Amino acid sequence: MRVYSPQDIEFLDRQALEAIQLLRLKKVIAVALDTPFYKERLSGVGIEHPKDLKSLDDLNKIPFTTKDDLRDTYPYGLLSVNKKEVVRMHASSGTTGKPTVIFYDRDDLNRWTHLALRSLRACGCGPIDVFQNMMTYGLFTGGLGLHYGAEDLGMFVIPSSGGNTQRQLLLMKDFGTTVVHATPSYMLHLYAQMDNMGVKLSDLNLHKALIGAEPHSEDLRRKIETLFGIDAYNSYGLSEMNGPSVAFECVEKSGMHLWEDAYRLEIVDRHSLEAVEDGVVGELVLTNLIRHASPILRYRTKDLTRILTGTCACGRTSRRIDRIMGRTDDMLIINGVNVFPSQIEEVVMKIPEAGNNYRIVVRKKGTLDVLIVELEVGPDILSDDTRDLYALKGRLVEALKASISIKPIVEFHEPGQLPVQEGKAIRVVDERGNLY
Ligand code: AMP
Ligand code: ZN
Repeated sequence: MRVYSPQDIEFLDRQALEAIQLLRLKKVIAVALDTPFYKERLSGVGIEHPKDLKSLDDLNKIPFTTKDDLRDTYPYGLLSVNKKEVVRMHASSGTTGKPTVIFYDRDDLNRWTHLALRSLRACGCGPIDVFQNMMTYGLFTGGLGLHYGAEDLGMFVIPSSGGNTQRQLLLMKDFGTTVVHATPSYMLHLYAQMDNMGVKLSDLNLHKALIGAEPHSEDLRRKIETLFGIDAYNSYGLSEMNGPSVAFECVEKSGMHLWEDAYRLEIVDRHSLEAVEDGVVGELVLTNLIRHASPILRYRTKDLTRILTGTCACGRTSRRIDRIMGRTDDMLIINGVNVFPSQIEEVVMKIPEAGNNYRIVVRKKGTLDVLIVELEVGPDILSDDTRDLYALKGRLVEALKASISIKPIVEFHEPGQLPVQEGKAIRVVDERGNLY
């Protein structure tokens, strides 16, 4: 097994932790200066060299980085190592047109893997566990993100990836899976399917679920725990900060430890963008201190949360954040996949038959989310041969699926049938209820 930095890093006092942060930040600044984008941004605030950064407070001088910056620099604008050093890339779901891509060199992956190992260990996983990873393997970071950390911890990993519930249940049963990693909505789906597939709880050996990738309430966590008779732990991550293992619950389940030796944490007021006091809800801003191939400084996650005050009974000193309470933008998370309404609009508006109004409805069907795109179309189309109508619907469903990776239900309406607002159009109706 690989030799890791001492476990002590999770129990350092603030001063020692901040000393590590400053050291790592300087290294990241050094590599960031190798990209034209950050060179310009940093020289604009008087940072021409890592040594111009005297303290962690100097980070506050640096402008925020946004998703748009990542798109504007696509594909290689933020790459700071030689291309031959890159060993992997990932991308965020839910971006219009160009995805936001992240590159990793060998050391970046090793450091991320180690964080995954620490996250799994913090919530009580160990070599004895059989870990079925039901998050999608691919450009999305959910699958691969915990995979290698789990292996390094000595877990028996079943890389089952997403979907195919029948096979998931079969594997769980036959290999005695003790830990699963899935979205909370998929956990509910899995439970609902057990009956249909003749699987009983007593056939399984499940003890834990690691749930993340989408917002969920404390009540939903409890529901999953009660249904399966297990412990469920919240896992937060985003591709811009590597992926899963940015913040993870420990066995105390009292908020997620944000691994501060790897990510510099700020919470800012969503309007003024000024830092807020601990305990106050604001937008989470993160600086990646451990990735060198794609440095990202002060990234506006758009996720709303707060720092939990006080110390955790587990003794780990990395501060904890509360579960994500919402987003500052209009991004929808549908069965774990990020979708921006603008992506849907872009596709819909390319259809020449489209009328003037459309609406996006998201609702629960059973335990999963369904996306319905309601679109007004010209009267002549509705009176056309139904085969043409079906063909048009089929084309639209396929085009939407290609853009957002989700297969929606498309409904056509006559002109004037969809509600019209006097003020700002309400394009999105999220009927899933208040999750927070
Ligand atoms: P992606 O970059 O595609 O992995 O998406 C990352 C986004 O998923 C985050 O910015 C959050 O909005 C959301 N997300 C990830 N994990 C969680 C979680 N545990 N709770 C709520 N939202 C989450
Ligand atoms: Zn803890």
